[in-house]
Amino acid sequence: MELALYDQNGSVLSDTDTSLLPDKIDINDTTAHIVINEYEPLVMVIKPIHKEPSQDNLGYIATLNRLRPVFYASHHFSLIDPKTLSIDIRQAEQVSSSVFINHLHYQLSDDPYTEAVQSAITSSLLRLAHFAVILTLLIFPLAALLMSRPIMRLSQHIDKLKQSPYRTVSNKIGRTLFIKELDKIRESLNAYHNDLNLAYTNLDEKDRELHDLAHHDPLTGAMNRKAFNDFRQEVNNIFQYSHKQISLLLFDINHFKALNDTYGHQAGDEVLIAISQAINNILSGQEKLFRIGGDEFATILIDSNPRKARQIAKQCHVMISQLSFEKIGILEPVRMSIGLANTSPKENSSIDTLQWKADVAIHFAKRPGNPNIVSFSSELAQNVQGLFSNRTHSALFKAISNGTGLIMHYQPIVTLSNGEVQYYEALIRIQHEGQLIMPSHIFPLVEARSLELDLDRQVIQKVVADIKNGVIPLGTGVSINLSAPSIVDSELIKWLTELKPFINNYKLLIEVTETALITKLQTARKNLGALREMGFRIALDDFGSGYSSLRYLGAMPVDVVKFDITLVRLINSKQINPILNHLAQMIIESGHLLVAEGIETKRAAQQLNKLGFHYGQGYYFGKPDATIPPTQLSRNIC
Ligand code: C2E
Ligand code: CA
Ligand code: CA
Repeated sequence: MELALYDQNGSVLSDTDTSLLPDKIDINDTTAHIVINEYEPLVMVIKPIHKEPSQDNLGYIATLNRLRPVFYASHHFSLIDPKTLSIDIRQAEQVSSSVFINHLHYQLSDDPYTEAVQSAITSSLLRLAHFAVILTLLIFPLAALLMSRPIMRLSQHIDKLKQSPYRTVSNKIGRTLFIKELDKIRESLNAYHNDLNLAYTNLDEKDRELHDLAHHDPLTGAMNRKAFNDFRQEVNNIFQYSHKQISLLLFDINHFKALNDTYGHQAGDEVLIAISQAINNILSGQEKLFRIGGDEFATILIDSNPRKARQIAKQCHVMISQLSFEKIGILEPVRMSIGLANTSPKENSSIDTLQWKADVAIHFAKRPGNPNIVSFSSELAQNVQGLFSNRTHSALFKAISNGTGLIMHYQPIVTLSNGEVQYYEALIRIQHEGQLIMPSHIFPLVEARSLELDLDRQVIQKVVADIKNGVIPLGTGVSINLSAPSIVDSELIKWLTELKPFINNYKLLIEVTETALITKLQTARKNLGALREMGFRIALDDFGSGYSSLRYLGAMPVDVVKFDITLVRLINSKQINPILNHLAQMIIESGHLLVAEGIETKRAAQQLNKLGFHYGQGYYFGKPDATIPPTQLSRNIC
């Protein structure tokens, strides 16, 4: 701030040369004035000086104050246009510094420097933005490439794992751009892959074990009947696609049953093991030995000829003759019968025909007085037509290997008092080349070839399928005939478990004959007891056709007794009728349900009803049929 003193006339008292204040002031106008020098606007204030307020002026004091700090405080980045600057403080008015700015009038204008800085900043920012965009556009593909490479590597890694299941790939996935997580994923994948391989290996092993178990005979280590059936299929393909000659050799231990019964099962097992080893020693690595029945073995030679087959048969025979079983107490020689059959290169053969020929051959080899090794010839075939009809033979083998042609016929068993159907007996037939093969033709061959287990198994499966398909009316039931070897077989319960789901809606019976009970009493009793607990009822079939029925009836878990047709026929005999009557009463009183078989007339049905028989079965009530007619559900005898 500048200051100068003036006299009463307004003339400056001090030297003002260096000052911006004027030498003379207008004493009549002592308001505030704006003075603009070449640098900045200033405000000049003139004040009279009094000794006392009431006395005259002694002079004047003028001050020159800078306005820039005032403006700067409120307008940082603007300029004041000096031409527009004015002040409106009236004469003698007192204005405090805080409101002083309010008395100033001016117009603001933009600061060219600020504008220049602003535009410089804006353009710099714009350039920077352009640069960033260009940089981003340039960097993005590179970044994408860098990012995607590890993922691509990971996918290649997975591909490699797929291609080489037993290898892990150890390259670093995140090599270019090390990404820890991706490498972790790779490690996890490898670990998972290893675990998977291990699981597969274990599964393969288990699969092989199961396959071995399913295809091997646990006692002798030879392949079993199932494997033989499978192999027969393979051989059939060879017949179709190649002209290789094939030989089938069947082996049967002479009098094995007697041997088993005399020296015990343990000794019998030892004989079987030794014999299978002896045959295996003769056979080459590719030739497989099958145990196809209790004491029956077989081998199939591919690319063979009759001379070679006979030579192998002879070697086996000699080898077995040299075996000694003295250590286990068997002093008598153990011998083997061998049946041989060969295909001829000219003949259009099949495995069924070859099997039939070998069966015929072994049938003769087993006959007393015949040579131990017999090759098939057409002369032999002429002597065995009845029992070993080629037709029955192929039909049976197809039926037992996969159920082909197997048809169950169902015959009703009714309540004699009211004719109501209780259940149906399942009776086997095999359909072959448009004809039905009956049990009378099937069973001699089944027994001769020890095929009871295979056949019964197929019958059970067929009955299960028939129940599922609604062949058996709900509320009735079905009875299944099982042969003696099945009743004492360890697998019996397992097979019949397939019928368990139907046990609540159907009466399920198992028919057994006395022979089954006689051979292995303890095992038969145990198995039948277990079946009863599962909910099956046990029927003793063909009662009266044997000689020791009553003895076994008391000892066995039996619910139903079926009087054999031959016994029922004697009802009209004066001598037999009272015996039949007493026998029936005894059985009824011991708590068994009594069934009469072979009822062909109304009269017979009435008579048997009077005798107290509960149920009846026979052509009078219905013949065995593949379908069950709805009218069959009841037939009154009154
Ligand atoms: P089975 O168990 O005694 O069966 C009754 C047999 O008598 C049946 O002969 C049946 O057709 C016949 N039959 C029924 N009613 C009459 C009648 O009024 N008069 C005459 N004359 N016969 C009648 P099929 O079907 O020929 O069966 C014969 C035998 O074969 C059966 O005798 C049974 O021991 C056996 N069998 C049948 N099917 C099977 C089966 O699936 N498995 C087993 N293991 N054996 C079976
Ligand atoms: Ca029966
Ligand atoms: Ca019967």
